Amino acid sequence: MSSELEDVKREVAAANRVLANLGLATGFTAALGHASMRVPSQPDHFFVKGREYEFDALAIMEPDDMVMCDTEGFLIGGRAGLTQCSEVKIHACIYKTHPKVQAIVHVHPRYTILMSVLTGSLKPMRQEGAQMLRRSLPIYPHVKTIQSHAEGMEVANLLGDSEAILLRGHGAVTTGTKISEAVMGMAHLEEQAQMNYLAYCAQGKDYLSYTMTCSTRCSIGPLSLSTRTSKMSSKGAHHNETAPGIIRRKRCRGRSKIFASKGILNPSDTRAN
Ligand SMILES: [Zn+2]
Repeated sequence: MSSELEDVKREVAAANRVLANLGLATGFTAALGHASMRVPSQPDHFFVKGREYEFDALAIMEPDDMVMCDTEGFLIGGRAGLTQCSEVKIHACIYKTHPKVQAIVHVHPRYTILMSVLTGSLKPMRQEGAQMLRRSLPIYPHVKTIQSHAEGMEVANLLGDSEAILLRGHGAVTTGTKISEAVMGMAHLEEQAQMNYLAYCAQGKDYLSYTMTCSTRCSIGPLSLSTRTSKMSSKGAHHNETAPGIIRRKRCRGRSKIFASKGILNPSDTRAN
């Protein structure tokens, strides 16, 4: 396999682990969700977390656990015994419809799901991630997993030129030109959703009338997930070990390191979706 494909597999596996480290796929949702990345020299192919693992948790994904699919969602390659995830159409249809998208993340974050049901929208409540919410995010209105081509295309078309889309009662999808953007976009989205929930609890729906003006623009710098996150220990062992992922990002002024929340592995026996 070429070094490019190995690099993409490594980045995608690392992205899955970082999502778990950030608390976006832990506990009950340890096996729910997947990151993917388009192959730069083969834009109609991408790598994504598959299924049929002994343990499905995102936190223990390694490069050889990734599978390659095409933009129809068909399995192109991967370790024997693995198949594409059942929601592969989310990735396939978005890559097919949006050539600029290079990476996609889909997970089931608690507060994002909660707000998708309570209000169906998110307001920017803090500067980090505010840019993503400068316009109302589109929302997929049906509470179900995305398994058919028609469902995948509906999500892709609803996404439009937004960086993210809410899936009512289900989760969210974030996109990026780099896989780090899609991962950090999801982290920001969930943080914003939690802030929205707290505001909702404090003010009821009246909180929607508050406006936060963000005059700064936070950006996410180039990030090689595979080189800036520590790997989990080998599969099948030490499932309660803490993964000390470290993510560096640019801030509006200066740089700082952010130590991601410590993801505690607790692989459930739920299956990848
Ligand atoms: Zn899902």
